[in-house]
Amino acid sequence: MPGRSIKIGRIAGIPVGISPWWLLVVALITWSLGASYFPEVITDLAPAVGYLLGLASALLLFASILAHEFGHAIVARRHGIEIEGIDLWLLGGVSKMRGEAHEPGDELRYAIAGPAVSALISAIFAVIAVLLPASTPEVITALVDYQLFVNVAILAFNMIPAFPLDGGRVLRALLWRRSGDMDRATTTAAAIGRVFGWLMIAAGILEVFAGGPGGLWLSLVGLFIVFAAGAQANTSRVQAALSGITAAQLMSTPVVSIGSALSVADAVEGYFVAYRYTAFPVTDPAGRAMGLLTATAVQRMSAYDRERHTALEAAETDPSLMVSADLDVASLLTRPAFLRVGRAVVIDASRIPIGLLSITDVQRALRASAIAGRRGGDAVGQLSGRG
Ligand SMILES: [Zn+2]
Repeated sequence: MPGRSIKIGRIAGIPVGISPWWLLVVALITWSLGASYFPEVITDLAPAVGYLLGLASALLLFASILAHEFGHAIVARRHGIEIEGIDLWLLGGVSKMRGEAHEPGDELRYAIAGPAVSALISAIFAVIAVLLPASTPEVITALVDYQLFVNVAILAFNMIPAFPLDGGRVLRALLWRRSGDMDRATTTAAAIGRVFGWLMIAAGILEVFAGGPGGLWLSLVGLFIVFAAGAQANTSRVQAALSGITAAQLMSTPVVSIGSALSVADAVEGYFVAYRYTAFPVTDPAGRAMGLLTATAVQRMSAYDRERHTALEAAETDPSLMVSADLDVASLLTRPAFLRVGRAVVIDASRIPIGLLSITDVQRALRASAIAGRRGGDAVGQLSGRG
């Protein structure tokens, strides 16, 4: 759901990004703290100092949320879940994971790690607040009090048992451990999440009518939970419907490959026009797959570029697009490259292409499974938007 983000660097090998929305949040926090909170709790405060304290508090909050997300990311990585990056957006932080936990114990540890970090930070600020001598300037105590407050708030909010919040993930892990059925646990946790989401939306609207503009934020968070829980339940249904189905079972054959040194212009004449397929594997002289040339990529090129570039230069070469025949199709749907390109090359042990697998093939399988009355039917629509 978070949109485009600006990469600001890597911490512990994990790319960190911020969405432009986050800058808006920092500005809002700086303004509201500088205009009301700090002038109220500190006597005779110069306005400029108030806004400076507001900015410092917003940046410390940024660090607290980042630390919370790193708690998740580092534990997830230790359990073999790949972390694509951490993004900060309108409603806080998101750790972008590739894949899911394989057992409830891992999910539980992953979900609890973020709140554990927030609890630790809260405890540290609580200790500082208690230990500060009475002579400490109000500027310092106000800053510490605010950090204690926001970290406790982050902790409390994330532990609400509304999937996909951390509390909801803990709930799912516990349900999963009890029933042994991850898909059913996700469906239940997502349903509970949606109820909480709707309650937040309603409470937020009531608050706005009662004169509290902060209710708008609560409604927004509720809306996010309703959508995210729905999307997660769909994903889980798709995974359940596809589990045990291999790439070889869904791929289209026979496969026609383009030599890597051929120009794109020749590939258009000799392959795209001749065979009317929309994608071809690109192979080296030994016939091994090196990439995938799609009609979409070719269409983006001018006639001049098509003459000047080889098929390989124009091809998608992301290694995650070359899949083995026994790969579980469900796991393919967690690969960003496949969702973007909509196709993958199925290869044998010597990397020779043996088939092509498109997102349409996957949709057909889902539809067949829906007709057969298995779960996964209403997930078909969700995938079609991505091809
Ligand atoms: Zn979290």
